[in-house]
Amino acid sequence: MNSGFLDGMKTADAIRAVCQYAQEHEIGRPTVSYRMRDWLISRQRYWGCPIPIVYCERDGVVPVPDELLPVVLPDMTDYQPSGTGRSPLANVSEFVNTTCPKCGGPAHRETDTLDGFACSSWYFLRFASPHYASAPFEKKAGDYWLPVDLYVGGAEHAVMHLLYARMWTKVMYDAGLVKFTEPFPVLRNQGMIWAADGQKMSKSKGNVVTPDAMVEKYGADALRLWELFMGPFEEATNWNEEGVVGTARYLNRVWSVVRRYVEAGSPEGNPALETVRRAHKTIRTVTEHVERLRFNTALAALMDQLNYLQRLASEELGRFALESYIVLLAPMAPHITEEIWRALGHSESVHIESWPKYDAELTRDETVTVVVQINGKVRDRLQVNAGTPEEEVRRLALDRDAVSKHLAGKAPRKVIYVPDKLVSIVA
Ligand SMILES: [Zn+2]
Repeated sequence: MNSGFLDGMKTADAIRAVCQYAQEHEIGRPTVSYRMRDWLISRQRYWGCPIPIVYCERDGVVPVPDELLPVVLPDMTDYQPSGTGRSPLANVSEFVNTTCPKCGGPAHRETDTLDGFACSSWYFLRFASPHYASAPFEKKAGDYWLPVDLYVGGAEHAVMHLLYARMWTKVMYDAGLVKFTEPFPVLRNQGMIWAADGQKMSKSKGNVVTPDAMVEKYGADALRLWELFMGPFEEATNWNEEGVVGTARYLNRVWSVVRRYVEAGSPEGNPALETVRRAHKTIRTVTEHVERLRFNTALAALMDQLNYLQRLASEELGRFALESYIVLLAPMAPHITEEIWRALGHSESVHIESWPKYDAELTRDETVTVVVQINGKVRDRLQVNAGTPEEEVRRLALDRDAVSKHLAGKAPRKVIYVPDKLVSIVA
């Protein structure tokens, strides 16, 4: 936008158009420039993928042919570094000594292994066909499942893992192995959780909080909810144990609403329109926020809705409001919602339930007409959202021309407000 002849073009088209423009006006030409980051790919350690190369006195460096792949690591009890600067594999003669695939003569294997990034550069392809035995991945499965829809990870992966994975993907694309040039079209970095004292958690500082201890104390669901709730997904936050206490309490409240409902015989009920509307609004809010990874606000909407549901008698709840609520909560608190789902009489898992749908009509804010009277005579009408606070409606009413004209700059003697219906002013 705001770029003359480029307005409205997609980036890729605009790049081409700019290049063409530069060439036509003889002020430039297109070129590709890049900087490769050096990557020392071999490691002198046991735990890595063996490098499939053998050394023959006659033939020199010989790659292990496809039909002899993969080269499998030997079992070793002691894989500590030897101190000689060579890989621990160099001590395993059955592994090292082999025959040359070319001449059949004596040869020895490469004993260095590949850096872990060699595996992390393509593991997502393996995920698409984890049981495929005749190649690293099955092309058909890769074409179907990939690229990865959403990559979530720490920002520390930006310059190494992600860079290497992109590089490998581009090479595999050129080789016709995959149909895409970018492995992770969408990337989001989660924020870091700092210790309660605002410092990075570390053993030496003694401020580490282990998830296991929290799970032991409050349950996995409560911990999970607190991690989602403690702040915006991409921002760093300080750990605070009070929060887990809060989410554990919230889950207890969900549980007791359901228990009350089940004990009342799980009535189909006769929910008020307000209850139905709130259920649909909650579905909309949670859906929209989860899609944007705004888990903290999605959960806030669920907590708000629970406050409402808690005030209702079991007959007023209605099955839809309660069950859709549990399905919305399920991805965030998977264990307790599964229990609840059974308690509500379902035999299938809540986690294979369809995501609830909302009726857009029912999520719209209801507007009401508020009549404005001065000394008992109707002078104006206001359109406001139902439930707008009294202060707000009063201010709106007093700001109206029809009203200020009658008051002629004087403060009203009295204002009576009937919610969603009437503002009555005594001049
Ligand atoms: Zn040879």
